[in-house]
Amino acid sequence: MRISSEIVVAAIIFFFMMVVLAFNLYLYAKWHLRSALRAHSRPRFDFTAIDIDPLPVPDHGLEATVLQSLRVTVYRATDFKEGIECAICLSQLTDGEVARLLPKCGHGFHLDCIDMWFCSHSTCPLCRRPVGTNPNVQPMSGLPTIHA
Ligand SMILES: [Zn+2]
Ligand SMILES: [Zn+2]
Repeated sequence: MRISSEIVVAAIIFFFMMVVLAFNLYLYAKWHLRSALRAHSRPRFDFTAIDIDPLPVPDHGLEATVLQSLRVTVYRATDFKEGIECAICLSQLTDGEVARLLPKCGHGFHLDCIDMWFCSHSTCPLCRRPVGTNPNVQPMSGLPTIHA
């Protein structure tokens, strides 16, 4: 009866290995499912966060033509009694630096700083007023009036 007892031992070992394998599969499936759930839930959370965001986020910067129309000046301390602090790099403008002045609010910034800002924004970085919403782009009713 030695052979049959060896078969029993082999069967027990086989059964034990199957249990271990099944347990490993269970653990793997559980981990995989959890990470998959996490991967699914995270972007959903981000999307709702974007939807909830009340700020009107401009996805493109200022138009180049509008940017070109903004006044550029060489800063002179004598011209600006109170001085100009560039709100983008947080440093005072000094004599001879090129500045851009916003027409609506009068805020001034370094030319390089504000041009970089307008690559992704269309409002003043200080007061958030929209820059360059000129109504002159509106097409006139171009029908010529004909007097018969
Ligand atoms: Zn600056
Ligand atoms: Zn401003």
